[in-house]
Amino acid sequence: MNNESPRIPAHFHKIQFVLAGIILLFVTPLHASVKLKVSASNPSPFQEQVVPVKSYLPKGIGPQDIINAGGLTIGYDIRKGQYYVYKEVVLAPKEMAVYQVEINDIWLISEADLEKQRAYINKLTDRLKNSQYAKSVQKLIGEIDESITIIINHQNENLIEKVSAVDHIAAYELNTETLKKIKEDIDIIESMVMTLSKTGAVVGVSQDQAAQACLAQEAMRYADIKGIALETPQDVRFTIDVQNSSDVDTQNVPLRYYLAQEVGANDILDSAGLNVGFDFEKAVHYLFQDSILLGPGEKKIFDITLRNKWVIDKLYLLTLKVNSDNVALALGSRAGFEKFRQRNDEIQSQLDQLLKAKSFTELTEEHIRTFRNNHQQLKNIEQEIAKLENMVITSNGAGVVTAQARERLCEEKRDQKIIAAAKGPEIIKEFKMAAGTIFKGKSLKTTTTWELIIGIIIFLGFLSSAFYYMQIREQKVVMLDPLTGAFSRAYILERFREELRISQNTGTKCSLLVMDIDKFKSINDTYGHAVGDTILKEFVITIRKGLRATDLVGRYGGDEFLIILPTSNKERAHKIGEGIAKIVQKSVIQIEKQTFKITTSIGTATYPDDSKVPEDVFLKADGAMYQTKRRGGNGVSTA
Ligand code: GH3
Ligand code: MG
Repeated sequence: MNNESPRIPAHFHKIQFVLAGIILLFVTPLHASVKLKVSASNPSPFQEQVVPVKSYLPKGIGPQDIINAGGLTIGYDIRKGQYYVYKEVVLAPKEMAVYQVEINDIWLISEADLEKQRAYINKLTDRLKNSQYAKSVQKLIGEIDESITIIINHQNENLIEKVSAVDHIAAYELNTETLKKIKEDIDIIESMVMTLSKTGAVVGVSQDQAAQACLAQEAMRYADIKGIALETPQDVRFTIDVQNSSDVDTQNVPLRYYLAQEVGANDILDSAGLNVGFDFEKAVHYLFQDSILLGPGEKKIFDITLRNKWVIDKLYLLTLKVNSDNVALALGSRAGFEKFRQRNDEIQSQLDQLLKAKSFTELTEEHIRTFRNNHQQLKNIEQEIAKLENMVITSNGAGVVTAQARERLCEEKRDQKIIAAAKGPEIIKEFKMAAGTIFKGKSLKTTTTWELIIGIIIFLGFLSSAFYYMQIREQKVVMLDPLTGAFSRAYILERFREELRISQNTGTKCSLLVMDIDKFKSINDTYGHAVGDTILKEFVITIRKGLRATDLVGRYGGDEFLIILPTSNKERAHKIGEGIAKIVQKSVIQIEKQTFKITTSIGTATYPDDSKVPEDVFLKADGAMYQTKRRGGNGVSTA
């Protein structure tokens, strides 16, 4: 941010408020509501000031959830997709204003929904009466009932009026996981009904599901042949160091450490005595201690253990391998076969690369970075496969990849496995233990168990690749901006912090470009939002042309984008900025018969030259961008 500039960019205010606004959750004994304390203070000891009170409401809170805004006005930030409350107040020197906002408690699982699940299960069970599954299903129902009771109890023990906000949210997350397990159990029962009724249509279990299960089974076989271990990753550790910078004085040092966005409250297995906090606005957890007493020069190390969230499931990768092979085979008789085979070969070798990922127990920046890069690559591979699949579907109907076609690779084995799987409650129990082992913890040993799982997987049809697709897709949604495919705001900001940490450790520079399309609003107003959307997409494609593979593009919101240039100094950042501005200016975007030309305003700032604090580097680049705007746009300014 350029303090000399006559006009202060709007963003500057916004960010300042967010930092100033404090949200505190505290006890409400009455209904399922949560009270937030929003405060602002006048830091000046001498002057009366107009102070803006502004605070974002937790993600997921909508106007319908606001019970009482406490005299504040409710606003909506389109960029963040988040509601906020605000007001401007006149405060005497050092005065503080406090407001109370009451919102619905959205961290609760509805007991009515749980009852609905129970009713559905009973309906399914009715169909299994007098069948060979009657006994097994009774056992499962017992477990589901127990789980539902556990959820309700756990929820009641952790109501917002009884425990801290973090514990309340942690209980909610844990209950959501239990609910997922219940869903898996329901899948088992559905599969039983499906097997009995052959078509599955009765309960809405698709044949495709069975085919997907077959893919998983093929994938397992493949893993076995190649000796690829499919164990659940081990927990990871890392350390947080705090040191007293003074050599003479004993000091109380505060500690606040933001965890990566992948980490949920229940993933923190050992916080080494540190407290766990949740940042509502960023939707990330952090570890903290308000004061740590350290003697002169003393250093304290905290050993943290987390569940490993930075590995890509190998079974899923193998499933993709098998699927891609199948699709390429289905395309085999088509013209252009060579081309398809080549594509498949490329996909196969990329997946092989991803499969080589080593397991680790010490978490480093590098692991997180590699994971996120691999994730990005995985997404590209999925798209490639989807393209091949589409080709099959669009190529004249015959030989379309039907569920049956996908199944053909493992057809013979299936019957024999179904028989093995249908044996009864013991097997179901074994299966559940094994499945639990694969996906939730501990490693799995005996081959016999593997055999069992493989068999039962086909039978049950729920450890399908669709299941993995869903999981992985959820993670991607968080990472990418759905419209442009650039990184999401949360992700790019987190990455930026990481890049600066890396720069700090390696003594390198890192630059940030903030860019905003000029007069974008008028395009929207004249040609409509859909045209605007297409232009945003094209814009991202265009700016990528001026970048290296290691540079990162993210959408900050609206028509504003961020580019992280690792290892780039000021001069280089300026050059790259100029290059991008030129490319954008020169390119013509064609939408139907209309052509569009746009320009962009860019600002750059560099770590550590402009600041060592990520937020400040951003503010400086943002300020520089506004300088470009003031000069009429279409160019670059350097902080
Ligand atoms: P300036 O040169 O000052 O940047 O002028 P501008 O018209 O570009 O103004 P500004 O950047 O403030 O406006 C951004 C506009 O982008 C406002 C909003 O209508 C539009 N917008 C934000 N998000 C989207 C989106 O997802 N799709 C489309 N089509 N438009 C969006
Ligand atoms: Mg603009």
